[in-house]
Amino acid sequence: MSRVLVIGCGGVASVAIQKCCQVSQVFSELCIASRTKSKCDKLAEELASKTKTKLTTAQVDADDTQQVIDLIKSYRPDLVMNIALPYQDLTIMDACLACGVNYMDTANYEPENIDDPQWRAIYEKRCREAGFSAYFDYSWQWAYREKFQKAGLTALLGCGFDPGVTQAYCAYAQKHEFDTIDTIDILDCNGGDHGYAFATNFNPEVNLREVSAPGSYWENGKWVEVPPMSIKREYNFQQVGEKDMYLLHHEEIESLAVNIPEVKRIRFFMTFGQSYLTHMRCLENVGMLSATPVNFEGREIVPIKFLKALLPDPATLGPRTKGKTNIGCIFTGKKDGKEKSYYIYNVCDHQECYREVGSQAISYTTGVPAMCGALMLLTGAWNKPGVFTVEEFDPDPFLEALGKYGLPHQEDHAPALVD
Ligand code: NDP
Repeated sequence: MSRVLVIGCGGVASVAIQKCCQVSQVFSELCIASRTKSKCDKLAEELASKTKTKLTTAQVDADDTQQVIDLIKSYRPDLVMNIALPYQDLTIMDACLACGVNYMDTANYEPENIDDPQWRAIYEKRCREAGFSAYFDYSWQWAYREKFQKAGLTALLGCGFDPGVTQAYCAYAQKHEFDTIDTIDILDCNGGDHGYAFATNFNPEVNLREVSAPGSYWENGKWVEVPPMSIKREYNFQQVGEKDMYLLHHEEIESLAVNIPEVKRIRFFMTFGQSYLTHMRCLENVGMLSATPVNFEGREIVPIKFLKALLPDPATLGPRTKGKTNIGCIFTGKKDGKEKSYYIYNVCDHQECYREVGSQAISYTTGVPAMCGALMLLTGAWNKPGVFTVEEFDPDPFLEALGKYGLPHQEDHAPALVD
């Protein structure tokens, strides 16, 4: 019997909340809090007759630590699930520390304003020293390790699919399949078609920042950075078929490089269709992906925020999206002195997700792991004081929960490798 505060009520949060409501014996009370309270009220109303979980709602601006502290003090949750945006990670972690509550999220911190000179100075130093230039990195949240440790609290970072399940797959491969892992390729394939010429499957601002950034991978103990979308491969995905995929920087590479230090190379690939890439390049070339405000007819607008207003809301893609996602990890390494390879992945059907929770598979494959991660924290399976990423916990109970609640894994002991 637990009381949980969920912050955010967008595409991912609405799946996670519905999934929590399916496990009401653990999630007995849940408060949905977000910037726009009407969205929380609407979801709570829809779910009220379908669940035993006692639902309440609240308005909160999570950019303001004091507002989060006040809400936590009045609701007194056992866990705060941050499913708002990566911009709110630090303010919500501060509030959890101030109130003595466990914390989790689905994406690592990045600032909303990348022109802030104080942040910029730290960022530029990190780019030079670490060798990758993504706006997000773990240093900001890893800096909270000692504080969480001292407070006896757990912070679980990045518990969606990627990051999240992909790291549990790595921990699983390490525990059950290999003595040493040499290479990890994380492959994220979305074979879904929503029928629009251009739309993003989750928050457009976060998504477009990620894919327009330089790619990078970890090799022989250091980062190798390459121009955006400059490394392309083709792969034949089970239940999806042949797709083009491109190397991206991705946050889990950073923590895996630390936590599985013997690995010689870690790469991340994501599939993109030609129409998506052509639109993205064009939007970038005309400045529509910029987060720097411009003056338009006497008022300031942020181009990427204006673009977000024009694009379809990811939450509305559900009924239109057909096809499947296939996300997983391919490993090479050694077991009992012999070379081996191994592929562990999940296939998820957009239409089946829509039938179950009214959203497409991208929100589903993130929301279900968020609920399962919360379940691990609330049942004590993953409790230890400090700040952790998913690969630092026992993968077995988590993979078992994922299988039970909608994301079972499949295995291939002789997969095609990516060159
Ligand atoms: P959405 O934009 O659909 O939803 C974001 C929600 O957060 C909205 O309800 C929004 O409220 C709320 N919010 C934004 N700012 C604040 C604030 N200052 N205070 C309170 N609430 C706020 O995003 P998604 O659901 O697509 O994504 C949620 C998270 O999941 C993101 O961090 C994203 O990066 C992550 N993600 C992780 C993946 C993974 O595999 N690990 C994959 C996909 C996403 P409002 O309605 O007012 O705008």
